[in-house]
Amino acid sequence: NQAKAKSQDIGVYETGSDEKHLKQIRLVNDLKIALTEDQLTMFYQPKVDLHEKRVTQVEALIRWFHPELGFIPPDEFIGLAEQSGLMPTLSRWVIRRVLNDAVQWQSEGVDLIMAVNISAYDLAHDDLPDYVMRLLKDLKLSSRHLILEMTESAVMQDSNQALSILNRFNSEGIKLAIDDYGTGYSSLSQMKSLPVDELKIDMSFVLNLDESKEDQAIVQSTIEMGHNLGLTVVAEGVENRKSWSLLERYGCDKLQGYYISKPQNSQNFLQWFKEYDVNNEYASESHSDSL
Ligand code: C2E
Ligand code: MG
Ligand code: MG
Ligand code: MG
Repeated sequence: NQAKAKSQDIGVYETGSDEKHLKQIRLVNDLKIALTEDQLTMFYQPKVDLHEKRVTQVEALIRWFHPELGFIPPDEFIGLAEQSGLMPTLSRWVIRRVLNDAVQWQSEGVDLIMAVNISAYDLAHDDLPDYVMRLLKDLKLSSRHLILEMTESAVMQDSNQALSILNRFNSEGIKLAIDDYGTGYSSLSQMKSLPVDELKIDMSFVLNLDESKEDQAIVQSTIEMGHNLGLTVVAEGVENRKSWSLLERYGCDKLQGYYISKPQNSQNFLQWFKEYDVNNEYASESHSDSL
C-alpha cells in the first residue's frame, strides 16, 4: 500500500491513463483495418420463445479477433467506434454480414429473425433505413427477418431525427427492441409513444433472479407493465433452470442466456440449433422439482 501511495505521488496514475489513451488510439486505427480484413465476425445467441416452444430469433454479437492483441470484447471497442465516427461503417458491416448469414441459413432450411444491435450514433444519420431496405431487396429477404436492438438512452435522446428513423423502420416492417431495459432513466410510459415491439430486461435483474426476492419483484412487475403496453418481453442473462421457471411463471415471452446457449459462430450455432429441442426442458421430472 505504501508503494502504491508513493507511485500515486509520482504520477504513475497519469502515465497509466496516457497508456490507456494510446491503446485507444491504436484500437481505433486497428479497427479501421479490421473492417477491411478478416478480423471481425458475428457470433449468434438464440432467444427461446416460451409460447411457441422454439427458437424464433437469434441475436448477432460482434467479435473482434485482433492478430496481435487477441480477442477484444465489444464493450472495449464499440464506444471507441462511436467516438471516432466509425459507427456508421461498423453497423453497415454488421447488418450486411448478418443478413448474408440469414440468406445462407435459409438455404439450409433455417428461418430465423435476426436481432442486430445498433447504437445511438446510427440514429443520428438518416441514411441507415435506406441502406437496410436496399440490402433486404438485393438479398430478396423480407423485412420481417430483422429486429434492431437499441438501448433506452439511444431511443430516448429526444431528437426528431432519431424518432423519424425509428418510425421509418417501423413502417417498413422492421421490428425494434429496447435493450438493457431498466438501466437507463426512462420509464415505460415515456416509451409508449415510440414504435417499439420488444422489451429486453437488462441481465443485471436476471442473473441472480433465482436468489434475489428484489430482482424477482422488479422482473415480475416489468413483465406485467410491458405486457400492459402491448410489448413482447424478453429476459436476457438466464443462467439457470430456476430463473427459467420463474420467468415462465411470470409470463415472460422470450428467454436468452448462457443456460440456453452462449453466443457461437455461425457454423456452431447452426449445429446447435438443429439439435436443440425446447421440449427437452420439460421432459425430465427433476426439472420441475428444482423450483
Ligand atoms: P447486449 O446487446 O446487451 O448483449 C448481451 C451481452 O451479454 C453479450 O455480451 C452476451 O454475450 C452476454 N450474455 C448473453 N447471455 C448471458 C448470460 O447468460 N450471462 C452473462 N453473464 N452474459 C450473457 P457481448 O457479446 O460481449 O456484447 C456486449 C455488448 O456489446 C452488447 O450488449 C451490445 O451492447 C454491444 N454489441 C455487441 N455486438 C454489437 C454489434 O454488432 N453492434 C453494436 N452496436 N453493439 C454490439
Ligand atoms: Mg442486444
Ligand atoms: Mg442487453
Ligand atoms: Mg448491453
